Amino acid sequence: MKGDWPLPLKMPLVGGHEGAGIVVAKGDMASGIEIGDHAGIKWLNGSCLACEFCKTADEPLCAEQKLSGYTVDGTFQQYAIGKAAHVIKLPKDVAFDAIAPILCAGITVYKGLKESGARPGQTIAIVGAGGGLGSLAQQYAKAMGLRVIAIDGGDEKRSMCEQLGSEAYVDFTTSKDLVADVKAVTPEGLGAHAVLLLAASEKPFQQAVSYARPRGAIVAIGLPANAFLKAPVFESVIKMINIKGSYVGNRQDGVEAVDFFTRGLIKAPFKTASLEDLPKVFELMEQGKIAGRYVLKMPE
Ligand code: ZN
Repeated sequence: MKGDWPLPLKMPLVGGHEGAGIVVAKGDMASGIEIGDHAGIKWLNGSCLACEFCKTADEPLCAEQKLSGYTVDGTFQQYAIGKAAHVIKLPKDVAFDAIAPILCAGITVYKGLKESGARPGQTIAIVGAGGGLGSLAQQYAKAMGLRVIAIDGGDEKRSMCEQLGSEAYVDFTTSKDLVADVKAVTPEGLGAHAVLLLAASEKPFQQAVSYARPRGAIVAIGLPANAFLKAPVFESVIKMINIKGSYVGNRQDGVEAVDFFTRGLIKAPFKTASLEDLPKVFELMEQGKIAGRYVLKMPE
């Protein structure tokens, strides 16, 4: 093969857009990875590596980005191709199915936590803490030395968040004053140092400024359809609130997110199904019956 980009992987097990497999061939200019190595393909399959964003490690913002399963063929196939510079080399003792969810959801929440600027010992309110992204975010936050305030609804999610080590759980379905309840569990009642918005509905995106601490950061990651991020100007200004978005992660973020996992700090619950079960998996997803993630096994 010619060039630095083609890196076909045999894909025994894949997630949605991302997947992990064994390198079976490589371009003659691809370096740092060998045939037989284990590697992961992310949502960001490749980028130009020459634009302003790529040069400054913001490759998810590259105008020439290639997205797995969207603008290039993804990992729903027995063999997939990733750009050599963008695949993540994986340790061989890590199971492909266990690592697959880290390659998309894990990287995304880990990057969001870094973008929040929250430091060890500070509080982070995670909205949607009981969901797939949220359960990973809680574990990364804890591993990074942050104190987690979990926001979600229902007792099932409460016990899950408590098991994951959140310091406090605020139930939006029973709370009469969510803003007051979140502030009450932060040091001196001043609010959370950072807020991670993973929710699939719009309301939390309008509320976060009110329970963020002065100088706090609000990081939007969830993508509720047609939603707007609104904030009162007065409160945002006098509290010097930093509102920002965070979108997947760069190559090094991916390496770090995988490293937390391989050191045993992150558990991502998953079930494995065969490709022919895909319609059933979609049904379960529509019914909201999936806890954790499904990983699909490709035919041999
Ligand atoms: Zn670029």
